Amino acid sequence: RSGYVAIIGRPNVGKSTLINRILGQKLCITSRRPQTTRHRILGIKTNDSGQFIYVDTPGMHSDNKKAMNRYMNRAAASSIEDVDVILFVVEGLKWTDEDKRVLKRLQQDARCPVILVLNKADKLDDKAALLPQIQELAAQFDFAAVVPVSARKGMNTDLLEQEIAKL
Ligand code: GDP
Ligand code: MG
Repeated sequence: RSGYVAIIGRPNVGKSTLINRILGQKLCITSRRPQTTRHRILGIKTNDSGQFIYVDTPGMHSDNKKAMNRYMNRAAASSIEDVDVILFVVEGLKWTDEDKRVLKRLQQDARCPVILVLNKADKLDDKAALLPQIQELAAQFDFAAVVPVSARKGMNTDLLEQEIAKL
């Protein structure tokens, strides 16, 4: 088994931290040049379940007015059209308009299962406080799984990898 896993989310939700946590700092490939026109490969992880290629989705912009953004949006659309799993990363209780725009793009362009990742769970004393946000998001998109994690602490990231391997 092998597959492409795309990471999507607004800036600052913890995508890089999550990738580094999953791949381990040393395994993370960093390159200034995109390796493909569609994806930037962030790293590859091989484990018992198979090989997983983690990719970035360049230009996941939400403002469609400017020509450059339109171009970038097409690139982003094609970059999420040909992956096997998408991780939609949001920050625990910080649900913003920018997140909503990313979700809208997913609704338009995603052709594969999407896992909702609620990051920074370590910041919450009461994890049950996440439930209203999960309900609101689940009403708008049919997520394949919902996984609260802490990329910083490494909490639940193994569970997330198991969910990725299932799809
Ligand atoms: P990106 O822009 O989505 O790639 O986000 P980064 O990975 O650069 O993280 C943005 C900020 O959030 C950084 O200061 C991280 O240290 C912090 N951060 C990332 N993951 C977590 C987490 O699980 N818990 C907490 N408390 N902070 C986090
Ligand atoms: Mg980043």
